[in-house]
Amino acid sequence: MNRFPRHLIFYSIGGLMAVVISYFVLFPHVWRCQWIEFSDFKKITSTFYISPDTPPKNLQKAQLAMADAHKRINRLWGAPQQKATFILCENTEQYRHYCNSTEGAGCSLGTPWGQSFIVLNVEGLNTDVIAHEMCHAELFTRLGWWKTTRQIPQWFNEGLALMVDYRFVPQTDSIQRHLSYKEECLYLSRGGQITLDLKDISSMRGFFNGNDSHVMLAYMTGATEVSRWLAAVGEANVQVLVQQVAAGKPFEEVYKDLEQTSRIRP
Ligand SMILES: [Zn+2]
Repeated sequence: MNRFPRHLIFYSIGGLMAVVISYFVLFPHVWRCQWIEFSDFKKITSTFYISPDTPPKNLQKAQLAMADAHKRINRLWGAPQQKATFILCENTEQYRHYCNSTEGAGCSLGTPWGQSFIVLNVEGLNTDVIAHEMCHAELFTRLGWWKTTRQIPQWFNEGLALMVDYRFVPQTDSIQRHLSYKEECLYLSRGGQITLDLKDISSMRGFFNGNDSHVMLAYMTGATEVSRWLAAVGEANVQVLVQQVAAGKPFEEVYKDLEQTSRIRP
């Protein structure tokens, strides 16, 4: 009988511990989300936790907004596949604890082993913020951590989330939506003086590293491009794109091909 060499066992255990410890050090907020069940947050369902300070009216507001957001996701993605755990915070301190940021009204987090979390601050108790974060979770669930982080440009991920988030452009037809985002972009770029290239906002760093006006212009640039693409290919092709990327095709290739075939179609 072959025995596994003892030194290899030590190295393996040591390596595993190093990975676990570095993960905890680098992403403590993700660990906190994973252990939410053992915190003082109240369990409403197996995928919904609220702060002990949440008043009943905020819980009701969140539940109504979640149901509405679910309908928007359904329209863009078909039946939702994500089963993100929602964590509803009542103040900035709690939000920072679970989201590692004080920015924004909501954030979504995903782990390499497929779990996802949507953390909401009290300002995030509305359909727009929740649908936006659910859209990120939906993409993440369908592609997994590796493909989402390695293959999907940040401008696409954020631009797509803005298609179900009507804070900047209200719900309208696809052509008008594109024109409205284009107008927003033109305004923010002071008539086209400061523009952003899509390749410069492909990475998280390129998208979010900068002042508020850079980040806002990055959002509007992403939304302008995604709304342009959707006006050309139709929303049903979001699922086709994601299925093909999930099957191993490169994002850029599928994105271009779908637009090309839509043009050829009579
Ligand atoms: Zn987002």
